[in-house]
Amino acid sequence: MIVLKFGGTSVGNAENIKKVVAIVNACNENKIVVLSAVSGTTNVLVEINKLLADDKKDDVIILINKLELNYHELVNELFSSENHKLKALSFIKNKFEELHSYINKTYQNEKIILAQGEIISTHLFQIYQNELGNTSLLISALDFMSIDTHEEPDSASIKTKLVSLLSDNNDIETFITQGYICTNHKGEIDNLKRGGSDYSASLIGAAIDAKEIQIWTDIDGMHNNDPRFVENTFSIDEMTFDEAAELAYFGAKILHPQSIIPAQKNNIPVLLKNTFSPNDKGTIIKNCSPSNGVRAIAAKDGIIAIKIKSYRMLMAYGFLKNIFEVFEKYQTAIDMITTSEIAVSLTIDNDTYLTEILEELQILGNVTVDKQMSIVCLAGNFSQNEKGISASVLNCLKDIPIRMISYGGSNYNMSLLIASEDKVNTLKLLNKGLF
Ligand code: ASP
Ligand code: MG
Repeated sequence: MIVLKFGGTSVGNAENIKKVVAIVNACNENKIVVLSAVSGTTNVLVEINKLLADDKKDDVIILINKLELNYHELVNELFSSENHKLKALSFIKNKFEELHSYINKTYQNEKIILAQGEIISTHLFQIYQNELGNTSLLISALDFMSIDTHEEPDSASIKTKLVSLLSDNNDIETFITQGYICTNHKGEIDNLKRGGSDYSASLIGAAIDAKEIQIWTDIDGMHNNDPRFVENTFSIDEMTFDEAAELAYFGAKILHPQSIIPAQKNNIPVLLKNTFSPNDKGTIIKNCSPSNGVRAIAAKDGIIAIKIKSYRMLMAYGFLKNIFEVFEKYQTAIDMITTSEIAVSLTIDNDTYLTEILEELQILGNVTVDKQMSIVCLAGNFSQNEKGISASVLNCLKDIPIRMISYGGSNYNMSLLIASEDKVNTLKLLNKGLF
C-alpha cells in the first residue's frame, strides 16, 4: 500500500482537484489518500476563532458567509451532474450551519472549528469520486489518528485502529482521509498543529508499513536552495532522511519537519512530487548514500540569539545544566548552541516565555540578546573524509558577518547564524560558490 498526500493548493480549486483525482486514479497501487484543507481555509478558521475570542460576532458571520460562497463556487465548477452537485451543496450547507451554530456557544469549540477544512475537502473529494464512478471509501481520521497526554501521536493505537479499519474493508483499493485532524487523550477533536497533514501522511505510512509515502505539493521536489530568493535553483533527485530532516526543520517549506521521523523510523521512502507537473521526477528521501559536499541549503527566520557570559571567568561545571534547565522549565526548544570558555550562545525561535527566560538567565550570567536573526542550514556530507567543505562554505561568506557557526554536531549539517537582513545575500553567495 502507498500513501498519497495532497496539500492545500493541490485541492485549492475545482481545476486542481481534477488534477489530483487524475493522479490518484492513475496510481495502480492500493492507497490511502490524505488531503489538506482547501488552501486558505484553515487560515480563515484560525481567524474565526480569534474573532470569537474577541466576541466580534458580526465579523465572524461575514467571514463564514464569505467562505461558504467560495465553496459554492468550487462545487459549481467541480461537479457536472445535478445530483452530485446537490449532494455537495447540501453537505456544504450543513457544515456552514454547524459553523454558525458555534457563534453563540459559551464554551470553546476552537479545535472543532479548525477541523472543518479537512472534513470539507475530503467529503467533496469523495462525492466527486462518486460522480466519476471511481470506487473509494472515505474514512474519518478521527476514528484512528490520535495524540496522547503529551500531544504526541499515539503510534500503537493509530496502528491498531487503522489496520482494523482497513481489514474491515479489504475489498477497497482507494481510501480517502483527512490530514491534520485527530482526537486527543480525552477523545476530543484536536489537530497535529499547522501544516500537520504531512505528519498525518507519515504516521499513516508508518502505521500500515506503506511501500512509499508521496507528498504532492506545488513544487517539483526539494530544491538545492530557496527558490523564493535565489535564481537557478534545481530540484534534488534523492537525499537521506537526515538531510531532509535538517532542511525541513531549518526552513524548507515543502515538508513539515516532524513528518520525517515516522518514515525514517520505519524506513519508508518519502517521495516529494508536484501535482502541477506530475511527470517531473521529484525528490526521493530514503536511505541512500550521502552527497559529495553540500546537498542543499535552507534558511529559517525569526531566530533569537541569547548569549550568557558566566560571572566566573572559567566555565564551571554545572553552568550549562543550569542554563538548559531554564529552557526546559519554559518548554522552549534550543536550536543552535556554541560555547567558549566563558560564554554560551544559543538560539530559540519561540519567544512566548522570552521575558521569563531572560530574567532567570540573568541570575547565571551577563545576558545579551540579538533578535531578527536567521539560521542558514547547509545539509550534506560534512564527514571527516570530505575535506575542505567547511572552508569553501566560509570562503563564500567573506563579506557577511556571521554571529554563530554550528558544525560537527552531526556529519550532515552545518548551520550559520546571521542577521535576517543578510539572509538573501547569504543564500545567493552560497549558491554561487557551492553549486
Ligand atoms: N490545513 C492545515 C493547515 O493549513 C494542515 C495542512 O494543510 O497541513 O495548517
Ligand atoms: Mg504543507
